[in-house]
Order: sequence, then structure tokens, then C-alpha cells
Amino acid sequence: LLQLSAPLNFIGFVYREIRQGLTDIEQMFDLLEVQAEVKDTPDAAELRIGQGAIAFKDVHFSYDPARPILKGISFEVPAGKTVAVVGPSGAGKSTLSRLLYRFYDIQSGAITVDGQDIRKVTQKSLRSVIGMVPQDTVLFNDTVAYNIRYGRTSASDGEVFAAAEVAQIAHFIEMLPEGFETKVGERGLKLSGGEKQRVAIARTILKAPPILILDEATSALDTTTEREIQTALDVVSKNRTTLVIAHRLSTVIGADEIIVLKSGEIAERGTHAALLERNGLYASMWNRQREATQAEEHLKQVRESD
Ligand code: ADP
Ligand code: MG
Repeated sequence: LLQLSAPLNFIGFVYREIRQGLTDIEQMFDLLEVQAEVKDTPDAAELRIGQGAIAFKDVHFSYDPARPILKGISFEVPAGKTVAVVGPSGAGKSTLSRLLYRFYDIQSGAITVDGQDIRKVTQKSLRSVIGMVPQDTVLFNDTVAYNIRYGRTSASDGEVFAAAEVAQIAHFIEMLPEGFETKVGERGLKLSGGEKQRVAIARTILKAPPILILDEATSALDTTTEREIQTALDVVSKNRTTLVIAHRLSTVIGADEIIVLKSGEIAERGTHAALLERNGLYASMWNRQREATQAEEHLKQVRESD
């Protein structure tokens, strides 16, 4: 019996490990809202990463052939620079980030990283150099520590803690019933959108990728949370090639270039100052958001004086 139970235990162990691996892959795909439809070509090479310069060249894309989503998009994110994409909801902003991560292949044009077409390199080597903080982070049904360490599984407890600190979430985690060992996700403690996003930022800080994709949360965060997230994002994006999809224009004033996307086309582009001067779509979005912020602040003052 003894002789038999040892191998059985071992098989059980291997099985559990495999199951866990599968669950993570499944969750990962859920998390990234993807069908695994993109395949490596047989001769796919490893991406040779340098400074992480990105280029979109006349990119056309549609999820469904009947409905074009991106209609000839060209722009570059030079190494270490930050380019922001803004525009109305449904314009195709998040689609740009999904294409760079190669969840889908484009219909025509090219997307390159350090001059290499992303269709000609392995998905694994491409994704290993990109850190993505999505609009809506789904956490694994595991501990907070596991969720952060996912960015680099070899990271020590000290490194996990330091990443959480930079992401402005360490203090919050320490207050949880079991601290970093608290189970989160669908079957654990539910975190708010802003908390989940900061966990995703901590994960990305640990990964320390040359390229960053940030899809800022739309959900109305309170000003303190927003400021904390912004501080965290500023730290991670420093000296990294960053593509940021911004909903609050106040967060992109300092971007090297702002691209205004509308119905899958670039309507305007330039720096914040140049776009304001142009007095077009960006300027009207800016004025609308400023008025909304002022109204919000006014309302707060009225409430406080009651
Ligand atoms: P944005 O981020 O600018 O709000 P998205 O890039 O998410 O816009 O979406 C652009 C358009 O593509 C929208 O009309 C959206 O409905 C459509 N879309 C997004 N994802 C899919 C999908 N997986 N299948 C089909 N259509 C999609
Ligand atoms: Mg979006």
C-alpha cells in the first residue's frame, strides 16, 4: 500500500499543478478578453528588444468584416516616450492596445516593435516585453501576493511589498484580514475597480517591461484614488515606451504626443498646447471636462458649507 500511495500522491501533485496552470491560462484569457485565435508562424523568431520603439503603419482592422474599426492608423511611440490616445467611447482606443499585444491580427498595414513586424515574432517573446494595465482588471482567485507576484514569479516577498508600495496599495493590503495572504477575486474578497487597478500596477512594476500599455479606468474614481493611481502610473511609465489610453484629459497634459481618435480615424494629433490652440475636437473635450470638474467642485463646496 505504501509503495502504491507514493506514486499516486505524486500523480495527484502533478495533476493539481497542471490544473492550476490551466486555470491560470483560462483566467488569463478571460482577463484579457481573448480567443486564442492568433497563431505563431512556423518560422516565428524571438523578438529582439532594444529600446522598445513602437510603430503603427496604416493599420486597418475589423473584428467583423462588415464593420471596419480602424481605418488606416499611423503613429509612432519613440523609445522611452509617452503617446496618449483620447477620443469618444467606441472610437477604437482599446482596440489599438489589443492589437499591439497581438490578441488579433490586423487586416492590412503593420505594427512593429523595434522595427520587427509583430506577426513575425513569437507571441511569448512579444508579450514578455509589454506590461498591460487593462481598463478592467480581473484578479485570480488567489492571494493578493500571488496576484502581484504574477508579474515576476521569482520575486521575493520584499519585492512584492515594494511594488505594492509604489503602486500606492501596500497600506490598504496591510489592513486586510490576512494582509498579503488574503484571498481575492470572484471567490474571495472583492476589491473595488481602483484597488484592482493598483494591484495590476504593482504586478506591472514587478515585471518592469520596456513597453507599457495603460488603459485608464473610466469608472468615476474619487479624486484621492485617482491621484494615487496617477502617481503610481507616473512612476511606472517613467523612461518606458508608453501607450496610454486616457479618459481624463488632465492625465495626458505631459504626453509627448496626443492622438485624438474618432470613429477609427485620427481626427487630430499634437501636444496638449497645440491641440488647445487648434480649437477643435480636443479643445471641446477639454472644455467639457473642465466644466464638469468645476461643477463637481462647486457642488462639493455647497455640500460642505451646509
Ligand atoms: P474605445 O476603447 O475607444 O471605447 P474599443 O476599441 O473598445 O473602443 O471598441 C471599438 C469598437 O469595436 C466599438 O464599436 C466596439 O463595440 C467594437 N468592439 C470592441 N471589441 C469587440 C469585439 N471583441 N468584437 C466585436 N466588436 C468589438
Ligand atoms: Mg476602451
